[in-house]
Amino acid sequence: MQEQIICTEKLNVTSQLAASVAHEIRSPLTSIKGFLQLLLRNAEGKEKQYLEISMVELNRMEYILNDFLNYAKPQIETKKVFTVSEILNQIKESIDPIAQSNSVGLDVVSEDNLWIQADQYKIKQALINIIKNSIDASIASKGQVSITAYRQLNKVCIKIRDNGVGMTSEQLSILGTPFYSTKMNGTGLGLMVTFRIVQAINGKLEFQSVKGEGTTALVILPSVADHKNKYHPID
Ligand code: ADP
Ligand code: MG
Repeated sequence: MQEQIICTEKLNVTSQLAASVAHEIRSPLTSIKGFLQLLLRNAEGKEKQYLEISMVELNRMEYILNDFLNYAKPQIETKKVFTVSEILNQIKESIDPIAQSNSVGLDVVSEDNLWIQADQYKIKQALINIIKNSIDASIASKGQVSITAYRQLNKVCIKIRDNGVGMTSEQLSILGTPFYSTKMNGTGLGLMVTFRIVQAINGKLEFQSVKGEGTTALVILPSVADHKNKYHPID
């Protein structure tokens, strides 16, 4: 038990340090980008080409820093009891524009009364990471992402299914490894964060995939039976 507490403290110090380093790097990065943009205005030929490549690389650094800050930012956990359909409706609202602009369909079907206890911000972040990956994987085929939520015994299951590019078993086995990404602008931090969030609330995250056919992510969370005295409407 004591060991666990020491571990948690270490993690807090590390994540605070990581957050401040990421933060410190962000300001010089922004000013470098500003100057490059100025230079780009009058650049031509090879010079223009090199400056453009530098901008792409700087943007990539910025993506990584933002994902990293999201992960490392020390946060006060506020666990609440709420239903999965509430949280999925909120997520659908924020993700719909991304899906639509990429011609990917997005549908959500959730049973009522699927009560869970978690930090809303974190569980949303975890689900959004999975759903965004499904959308990314379905862009080329203008595919469909389907989310269903249902009860199984004393568990709540959230299934995110896409008919996108899919993954090989090698790819599946390294999901969640920091910085593993196959995307031009990917950071490879999304699923690492997602796995941690799900584990922290004693949940499970499983992936099944067939290359060229699609992927199914299954989030299994402990359900809360007695919610009556604990329920607070979500923000
Ligand atoms: P990122 O999205 O920044 O690449 P993630 O950690 O979210 O990082 O995902 C890591 C990698 O896992 C992705 O680059 C992609 O190759 C693969 N992946 C994740 N979800 C899917 C999916 N639904 N379909 C196909 N590949 C996926
Ligand atoms: Mg991702």
